[in-house]
This record gives sequence, C-alpha cells and structure tokens, in this order.
Amino acid sequence: MNEIELLKRRLQREKNIRQQAEKIAEEKSRELYLKGEELKNALQAESEAKKKIEALYQEVERLSRIDPLTELSNRRSFSTDALRLLQLAIRHKKKLSCAMLDIDFFKKVNDTYGHDFGDKVLIAVAKASRNQLRKTDLLARFGGEEFCFLFAETDLNGAALIAERIRLAISKLEFHFEKIRFSVTVSIGVSGLLDSNDNMENMIKRSDTSLYKAKENGRNRIVIWEN
Ligand code: GH3
Ligand code: MG
Ligand code: MG
Repeated sequence: MNEIELLKRRLQREKNIRQQAEKIAEEKSRELYLKGEELKNALQAESEAKKKIEALYQEVERLSRIDPLTELSNRRSFSTDALRLLQLAIRHKKKLSCAMLDIDFFKKVNDTYGHDFGDKVLIAVAKASRNQLRKTDLLARFGGEEFCFLFAETDLNGAALIAERIRLAISKLEFHFEKIRFSVTVSIGVSGLLDSNDNMENMIKRSDTSLYKAKENGRNRIVIWEN
C-alpha cells in the first residue's frame, strides 16, 4: 500500500470516529433536553401544589375565624381582635365601648316561619348591623341570635347613639314569608371601658347585664350600663 492509500484510510477512520462522536453527542444532548423538560415540569407541578396548599391554608384560616352563616367574626376571632383594641385603648388612653345585641322573641320566628327562614333573618340582622359600623369597630356572632360589638375610640354616649341606630335599622327590615310581612326587634346592652384595670370579660359582662335589663324593661330598646 502506498503512502497515499494509507493516508486515505486514516482519514476515513477519523471521519468515522468523528461521525460516531457526533451521533453520541446528539443522543446525549437529546437525553439531557428531555431530562431538563422533565425537571421543569416537576418544578412547575411542585410550585402549583405549593400555591394550592397555601390557598387551602388561607381558606382554613379564614374559616376558623368566621361564623359560616352570617360571615361575621366568630367569638374566638373576636376575642383576639378585641384584646388588641383594648390594649391600644388603655395604652393611648382612648375610650372604648361594647354592646351586646339579642334578637327579641327569636324562637317565635323559628317556630312560626321555620328554622331556614330564621337563618335568613339572622343573616339580614348581621348585615344591617355591620352596615352601621366603622372599619375600626368589631362585630361578632357570639352565639345563636346574639351579637357583640366593640366600638373603637367611642365613649358611652357615642356607643348609645350607634346602638340606637343599629336598633332602628334592624326594626326597619321587612321580611316576606309567603304572603306574610313581618319585622323583628332587638334589645341591646351597652357598656364602656372603665379604667386601665378593666378587661374585656368584665366589659362584656356589664353589656350582658344591661341587655338583660333591656329584656326585662320590655325589649326593643337599648340600656346603658350604670354603676
Ligand atoms: P328573648 O327575647 O328573650 O331573647 O327570646 P328568644 O326567643 O329570642 O330567646 P331564646 O333564647 O328562647 O331563643 C333563641 C332562639 O334562637 C332559639 C334557637 O333555636 C334559635 N337559634 C339559635 N341559633 C340559631 C341559628 O343558627 N339559626 C336559627 N334559625 N335559629 C337559631
Ligand atoms: Mg333572643
Ligand atoms: Mg339569646
């Protein structure tokens, strides 16, 4: 074999090797691309799952704070927020007042129009109450047909005015059951923060005592706590 022939063969061998190397590189790069896509999809799925978990967590957190029927705060959430308002009021020497509201003869509403209609009345009373408040006030459903208010930066006189406004607004609600029209009334007990040693529990108790008096005095009225 002459030298040229040998060179040709060598070149051919080298060409073959280069082609093989290129093929392997192409396969590897395709494999890497597919792996990259897989990883990207997995990361995207993980981020979506994280977002879903976060949304679910927020929803659970929200549900733990609200009363599902009226969508007002529940008692537990109210207690936390009320404590913060109370501490602020004491620290900055601001007024703070509290009111307890109870629907009059609500059992009769249920007995006459049914529990489901009673629920509608509760929702309407909650909405009418909320509409009378400022953003800084608190309102919660405390139990069956009982609601608690906390009026920020409001003295007893101011609270009495708001309570009267709430009482009036609720008395103006008109309910329609089949061909019957009816309205409901509420009784409200109001009390104010006494001094820096006072606390929420006592303020609520005083509002409750006043509410009890409002019931005793004939309902559909507000009573302000007095020593
Ligand atoms: P008063 O004027 O003395 O407050 O009389 P009342 O009938 O309102 O008081 P009572 O405590 O006897 O009745 C409260 C009623 O509220 C009884 C209960 O069945 C009803 N109730 C409590 N929770 C709910 C609720 O979620 N939905 C409905 N529809 N009724 C409820
Ligand atoms: Mg009642
Ligand atoms: Mg009651």
